[in-house]
Amino acid sequence: MKDSKNELLEIVSALKGHLLYQRDILLSEGVPITPPNPLFVKEGVPKAGALSQLPTTDHRPPTTNVSPTGKSNKELLEELRSNIGDCQRCKLGKTRTKLVFGVGNPDAKIVFVGEGPGRDEDIQGEPFVGRAGQLLTDIITKGMKMKREDVYICNVVKCRPPENRNPEADEVDACEGFLIKQLEVIKPEIVVALGTFAAQTLLKTDLPISKLRGRFHDYKGIQVMPTFHPSYLLRNPEKKKEAWEDIKMVIARLG
Ligand code: URA
Repeated sequence: MKDSKNELLEIVSALKGHLLYQRDILLSEGVPITPPNPLFVKEGVPKAGALSQLPTTDHRPPTTNVSPTGKSNKELLEELRSNIGDCQRCKLGKTRTKLVFGVGNPDAKIVFVGEGPGRDEDIQGEPFVGRAGQLLTDIITKGMKMKREDVYICNVVKCRPPENRNPEADEVDACEGFLIKQLEVIKPEIVVALGTFAAQTLLKTDLPISKLRGRFHDYKGIQVMPTFHPSYLLRNPEKKKEAWEDIKMVIARLG
């Protein structure tokens, strides 16, 4: 009995050593640690009781995601921004003041995608900073109890369409690749598509937002929740209740 108990202890100890070795190797190669690791139910979140099994050294994965190339998401987004440069790939390049790339946490679990910069955004170079932006910020901070810096915010097109008209097909064609790349780098769990235009562009559909909202859709393995655009909610405050239903589903899915 005593022998078999010792044997079991030896196996557990060897297994623990192996797991920690694997983690150290992966960390030193800059590979993000993801499950399955039996001690972790979710990246960075130890299973109940698991910590007491670990030595006191901190082996938790880094909070900054690192790509297999060893570059952080922040660096990859900076690279993407510099590749866009002083973009003249479409006619919006001639009329914009500032290109509005995106803002927020490069490792965000949630990304908000709008249509395109408005007047305030064009001046400041940051998405959703005008009246609609204030409402979006309230949704994030008061509704979701998160900070604006915790999430990532960007638009389908990065330059302001004159007079806030809808972006045209050639403008979307020229710009969409940058949104696709942003999402590839960040790899969020959830994208909230703000308004008809963002939802239809991401989901490649002609359905109106009223038919798309209220349920999750798939975009390349990322869950997309379409909801009303904050500008629309400012004009139609009675729709806020439905938007809040959508956001509550996002909160629940994020856990
Ligand atoms: N509306 C959008 O769709 N995006 C912004 O950045 C601002 C307003």
